[in-house]
Amino acid sequence: MDKAQIMSDDEKYIANTYARFGLVAERGEGGAIYDADGKEYLDFSTGIGVNIFGLCDRKWQEAVIGQIGRIQHVCNLYYSEPQTKLAKALCRKTGAAKVFFGNSGAEANECAIKVARKYSHDKYGGGRYEIITLNNSFHGRTLATLAATGQDAFHRYFGPFPEGFRYAEPTMKGILEQYTDKTCAVMVEVVQGESGVNALDGGFLKELQTFLKERDILLICDEVQCGNGRTGYMYAYEAFGLEPDIVTTAKGLGGGLPIGACMLFDKCKNTLGAGDHGTTFGGNPIACAGALSIVERLSDDLLAEVRGKGAYLKEHISRIRNVLSVSGMGLMIGIETKKSARDVAEKCLKKGLIVLTAHGKVRLLPPLNVSKAEMDEAIAILNEVIAE
Ligand SMILES: *Cc1c(COP(=O)(O)O)cnc(C)c1O
Repeated sequence: MDKAQIMSDDEKYIANTYARFGLVAERGEGGAIYDADGKEYLDFSTGIGVNIFGLCDRKWQEAVIGQIGRIQHVCNLYYSEPQTKLAKALCRKTGAAKVFFGNSGAEANECAIKVARKYSHDKYGGGRYEIITLNNSFHGRTLATLAATGQDAFHRYFGPFPEGFRYAEPTMKGILEQYTDKTCAVMVEVVQGESGVNALDGGFLKELQTFLKERDILLICDEVQCGNGRTGYMYAYEAFGLEPDIVTTAKGLGGGLPIGACMLFDKCKNTLGAGDHGTTFGGNPIACAGALSIVERLSDDLLAEVRGKGAYLKEHISRIRNVLSVSGMGLMIGIETKKSARDVAEKCLKKGLIVLTAHGKVRLLPPLNVSKAEMDEAIAILNEVIAE
C-alpha cells in the first residue's frame, strides 16, 4: 500500500482518537525511522519513550526472537522463566520485594491503586481508600487512572468515575489541604511527563515521604515514563533519595513490546493473595524476555552516559533563540518556546526529526544510546525550526 492509501484507510477505519502527524513509519534501525517513501527520520520520540535502545536493536531483537522460538505465551497459572527472571532482576535493581506484571502503564497503576486500598483495608478496615494525586499528573486512560489523573480535562464525558481521588498542588500545603483520615496513599510522578516534563521539588518529596511514613500512608511513584534509565537513574525517585512503597513502570521497560510492572516494596509485598488480581497477557514470556535484556543493560555506566547526554542537549538547546526554558532530567527533556509546540513538531518532521509535544512544550525522548552525531543533528534542526 502506498502512503496516501494507508493514510486514507486509517482515517476511514481507525477510531479518531489521535491527531496523527503525516508520517507512515515502515521500518527502523537504531535512531532512524524510514517512512513508506524511504525518507529517513531521526527519532527523538522513541514511540513515547518505548524504544529505549532505538529501533530493532540487535540485543533486544535476539532476546525476543529467541523466546518466540521457545514458547509465545503461557497463562499465569503456570511458571515461566522469563517472567521470574525479569521480576528478580527488577527486585535486585530497586530493592522491591515482589512484582505484578500487566501490559501497560495504566494497568500497572490500576494494580498500585488496588494494592494501596487493600493494604489499608487489611490493616485498618474499610473506609480508608482515598488516594491523593498531584495537579498536572497523568496516570493513564482507564476509568480509575483517568480519575487519578490530576487534570480536569481528563474528567469529562465518561463519568461516573471511580471515587476516592483528591488532587493536590505539589507542595506540603497542597497535600495537607487534601489529606484526610481516609487517605491511604499518595501517588506522584517525580518527573511529570505529559504535563510538560517537570521534575518535582526534591525538598517537597522528602518532606512528603516523612509525613507519609509517620502515618502509614503509602507512597506510590508512577515511573511509567521517567523510569528505566530515562532520567539517568534506574528509576527517577532514586535521584531524590526516596523509598517508595509501590513503583509502577511500563513504556521503556519492554523496549517496544507491551509490558507494565507494579513493584511492591516490603510493606505491601503480601497484600495481594491468590485471586485478588490477575491478567491474561501480563508478564507474557516474549515481552519479559525482551524486557530482561533491557534491564540487564541499564548499568551504572550507561546511566552516567544518559546524564551526560542530557546535560549536553540541555546546554545546547537552551542557547537557541526563542527558547524560553528547558526542563527535565537526563534524556527526558521539555522545551518551552515562543512558538506553538505542535507547529515546531510539524516543522521538525518535515526536516526529518521526530519530536513529541507535552502541554505546550516540545518534548524529547531520544534513545538512551543516542550518539553525539545524532544529538548534534537534532540540535541543528531544532535550531533551524525554533530560531527562525
Ligand atoms: C504513559 C503514561 C501512563 C499510561 O501508560 P499506558 O501504557 O499508555 O497505559 C501512565 N503514567 C505515566 C506517567 C505515563 O507517562
